[in-house]
Parts: sequence; structure tokens; C-alpha cells
Amino acid sequence: MKVVILGKQGSGKSTQGELISRYFSIPHLDVGRVLREKAKKKNKLGKTIRKFMLKGLLLPDKLIGKIIRAELKKIGKGFVLDGFPRNLDQAKMLKDVDIALLLKIPDKIALKRLISRRVCSKCGEVYNLLSKKPKKDAICDKCRGKVVRRDDDNELVIKKRLNIYKKEIKPVINFYKKRKLLVAVNAEKPVEKIFEQISLILSKPE
Ligand code: AMP
Repeated sequence: MKVVILGKQGSGKSTQGELISRYFSIPHLDVGRVLREKAKKKNKLGKTIRKFMLKGLLLPDKLIGKIIRAELKKIGKGFVLDGFPRNLDQAKMLKDVDIALLLKIPDKIALKRLISRRVCSKCGEVYNLLSKKPKKDAICDKCRGKVVRRDDDNELVIKKRLNIYKKEIKPVINFYKKRKLLVAVNAEKPVEKIFEQISLILSKPE
């Protein structure tokens, strides 16, 4: 099964990607997480990624395309991919998608979730001060790493990322709609409820 998850920042793409991956035993490729790992490195690629991320801008298609191809090669046939594609050219790069799940939330909720979002600086586990606090303040439950706010999760950059998302994702949505692969899901509900709906969608025979 080849699943792509589309949705605004804060819509829960990574969380649902993780759940889908575990439940259906499909490898999960969380693009944001891969990029943040690469951005930690002190090499040229790390520096380039940091530059784009800090500004809230998408990486050039050629560069992200190369990264995604390499990552997909590592994981084999099926995938659940979140954070890619983010524009029409990226959608065209990706062959043989079976379903595109669109997680829908209003901006107000996205903003609220992103401002309270925290992430482990060591293993990348995602937390939220409103709904999923680390058990011990600012310490990751999984690896004891330091839980911090992402550099690009500040109000100014969040708004910029949301604006870019909205502009660039429209043709992607139409691309999958035309191919009858798009399924929209209300992502305002609690995580388990959303996953319940997604698992039903993905379990349906074609
Ligand atoms: P996000 O949290 O989805 O806004 O992703 C954080 C940052 O990662 C973005 O602001 C971009 O710099 C980069 N990024 C994530 N996904 C992509 C993508 N598909 N294409 C280009 N850049 C991306």
C-alpha cells in the first residue's frame, strides 16, 4: 500500500502516519523528521536545509526530490509518506500512489496546536503541552532527550508556512481528486477517532 498524507502543519500527519505504519505494517517516511535529522549535521546539506526551514520556505524541488528518492529506495515497496508532496511538481515526481489522505483542520486550530507543540531534540518524538505532555517536564519519555520548541514553530514563521501550504497544496489536491485517489478526513477530532476513520478507509477493498 502506498499512502500519502496531506494536511496543514499541525493537522496530525506524523501522528497518523505513525499509527498507520504500526497498524498496517507499512514503513513510515516522515519527511519533516528526516529533514530535521539532516539539518542537525554540520555539513553543506545540513546548512542548506536549516536555512530554508528557519525561513519557513520549502526546499527546492530538485533537492527534496533527491532526498525522497533516496529514502524511498531504503524502505522498499509500500510506504506511508507524510510531508510530501507539497506542490504539484513534487506530486508528479511520485508514481503509483494508492490513496491520498487529506487531514482537514481550520487555521485557528493549527496555530493553537503548533504553538504548544514540542519535539525531542534527540529522537524527534513529538509532544504537545495541551494534549501530550512529556511525563517529566521538558524530558523525552522515550529517550530522556531534551524536549524543545522547534525553531520554526514561532507565530511569524508558522503563519508563513501555513500561507505557503495553502497556496501550493491546491493543485496537489486537484491532482489526486482527478485521479479519484483523494479522501478527506476531519482532523479536528481526538487522535484515536481520526485513526479509527482512517483505518476503516484503508481497510476497504478497492
Ligand atoms: P512543515 O512542518 O511541514 O512546515 O515542514 C518544516 C519545513 O521542512 C518546511 O518549512 C520546509 O522547509 C521543509 N519541508 C518539509 N517538507 C517539504 C517538502 N515536501 N518540500 C520542501 N520542503 C519541505
